[in-house]
Amino acid sequence: MSALDQEFAEFASRLHGELIRPEDANYDEARRIWNAMIDRRPAVIVRCKDADDVIQSIAFARDHGFVLAVRGGGHNVSGNAVCDEGLVIDLSRMKDIRVDEERRTAVVGGGVTWGEFDQAAQRAGLATTGGVVPATGVAGLTLGGGSGFLARTQGLACDNLLGVDLVTAEGRVAHASEQENPDLFWGVRGGGGNFGVATSFQFRLHPVGAILGGVLVHPMGRARELLRFYSKFVEGAPDELTLFAALGTSPDGVPVAVILAAPWMRGNEFYDRSANLARRSWMISSECRTSISKASLDRHIRRAHGTIGSPASWPISERRLSIPWSATPRACPQNALRSCSSI
Ligand SMILES: Cc1cc2nc3c(=O)[nH]c(=O)nc-3n(C[C@H](O)[C@H](O)[C@H](O)COP(=O)(O)OP(=O)(O)OC[C@H]3O[C@@H](n4cnc5c(N)ncnc54)[C@H](O)[C@@H]3O)c2cc1C
Repeated sequence: MSALDQEFAEFASRLHGELIRPEDANYDEARRIWNAMIDRRPAVIVRCKDADDVIQSIAFARDHGFVLAVRGGGHNVSGNAVCDEGLVIDLSRMKDIRVDEERRTAVVGGGVTWGEFDQAAQRAGLATTGGVVPATGVAGLTLGGGSGFLARTQGLACDNLLGVDLVTAEGRVAHASEQENPDLFWGVRGGGGNFGVATSFQFRLHPVGAILGGVLVHPMGRARELLRFYSKFVEGAPDELTLFAALGTSPDGVPVAVILAAPWMRGNEFYDRSANLARRSWMISSECRTSISKASLDRHIRRAHGTIGSPASWPISERRLSIPWSATPRACPQNALRSCSSI
């Protein structure tokens, strides 16, 4: 055993989590992230269990001159969650989620994804602004600001952040909130991941029951009209309605122009009016979209193409979701909506 191997072995023995090196069977799985174009080969991956593992990892990287990468959900397109030749602090095992129903707050670990967080909070009928795709990490999204379906009424994810626990570059544990280390707190709310390794986040939650939402899919050839409509429509949309427009490809490779919509809260007057309108038109509901086949997507697109008409024929005066939707509208929990909006 080389001297370095001996040091790795000693390091591993001090960890509560797992140390993974290139010769380990799970190395390739551990270095894989959401963006499959990223193919980096770290010297070591530490799947941390707690803040102590993070402290040990920072010290080991410093002592051995390793470049450091930090992985939350591993969802960032740039692939900063992994590095070549360096040490990856992988927080994906730090999945603690504690929801305080009475205070409407939650504390979540640095490796929690939005899907996991939503599921836990929704058991108490609560949620906070998070990403529209469930596999996105709470950490990277919140540290970068974080927009989502609740943003227009509740602000960004970082606006709902009450506090964060970090391990600094010196290996010191720090808490940042309005009261404690306020400058650091200002920095982590949108400044990205460079202020330390965030091991847990405390959020404010809001009552959020069933929401109505879904994906409006149109042929790419109508993208110009759709985006013009979108731009005009959002100007007057109420805060309860959050819409995103995107150009993408369907799961079957069909180029499409998409609007993601989430008017939320059953019982809210806007929800009821949207539901009525949606019933009269069509909408690809969250649930059916996940299993949509090329044939049915083509059918939806053909129908949309046939009935979308010219912008002048859209009943914009209603200032509601009035472009043709598909299928039947369904009320779905916030999490269900997130789980299928990744076209
Ligand atoms: C399909 C898709 C959908 C998206 N949807 C949304 C959306 O709806 N709203 C939105 O705002 N953004 C969205 N994003 C962007 C997303 O918020 C960012 O990519 C975010 O960085 C992902 O966070 P992560 O923890 O999964 O990323 P990672 O890849 O793990 O990390 C991203 C960056 O944050 C750093 N970091 C991660 N965890 C920590 C930590 N605990 N402490 C310190 N630094 C850390 C990493 O080092 C890296 O630099 C989306 C991205 C994709 C690919």
